[in-house]
Amino acid sequence: MLEIENLHARAGDTAILKGLNLTVNAGEVHAVMGPNGSGKSTLSKIIAGSEDYIVTDGRIRFEGRDLLTLPPEERAAAGIFLGFQYPVEIPGVSNMVFLRAAVNAQRKHRGEPELEAADFLAWVRHRVKQMKMDPAMLSRGVNEGFSGGEKKRNEILQMLVLEPKLMVLDETDSGLDIDALKIVAEGINALRSPARATLLVTHYQRLLDHVQPDHVHVLSGGRIVKSGGPDLARELEEKGYGWLDAA
Ligand code: ADP
Ligand code: MG
Ligand code: MG
Repeated sequence: MLEIENLHARAGDTAILKGLNLTVNAGEVHAVMGPNGSGKSTLSKIIAGSEDYIVTDGRIRFEGRDLLTLPPEERAAAGIFLGFQYPVEIPGVSNMVFLRAAVNAQRKHRGEPELEAADFLAWVRHRVKQMKMDPAMLSRGVNEGFSGGEKKRNEILQMLVLEPKLMVLDETDSGLDIDALKIVAEGINALRSPARATLLVTHYQRLLDHVQPDHVHVLSGGRIVKSGGPDLARELEEKGYGWLDAA
């Protein structure tokens, strides 16, 4: 599904990614861990199409297509979803209006007709219930005055409504209490299927107790320096990242 080869990228004069390789197949959940400043958010944002970074070498293919030539909205329409570390607030635009615009924009890119208002409403209500959210939040401004946990829950709601093929979640577990963490994990797991894949960027093992990854990678200094199974995440939790430099 996602093939990243020899990716080099910089922001301004700073080289951040320095030859990153990563292949994610449909049906798989990959966790990307690594010390602060190693390039995890940079990787997530480059996949989504951020203009803050310049790719200086390498390739990213998504379902065989050259991703780097596609604008961000085409990537979203192709099925790529990026969850943010700090979800943005859009005061004055209700959640419902936002979700509907997002769904229909993606459908338009794919040449599909807009959803009927009633069908859309039913679909969103189903997802709101699944996320154990108060339906009243649908008429509030996007993330306006939401607590940290509510923002995360709202982000996963957006994801469940859009049903992307590739979910890239950048530290979506940071700052969550255990109940919110479980709900986020349930949302991610609800979308787990042989046709979808997830890239889970996280500092902590605790999300991985609820979302079992198939592969775990350590990103350090702009490259994947180690890959393994779920045990690697537990080992990192125990030992930190320092031992990798010596190994
Ligand atoms: P991580 O998510 O692993 O903590 P980031 O990808 O956020 O790491 O950042 C990697 C490095 O790149 C850091 O040193 C950071 O300061 C730098 N960096 C990230 N984005 C930018 C930017 N837009 N401009 C300049 N430097 C950046
Ligand atoms: Mg960071
Ligand atoms: Mg980060």
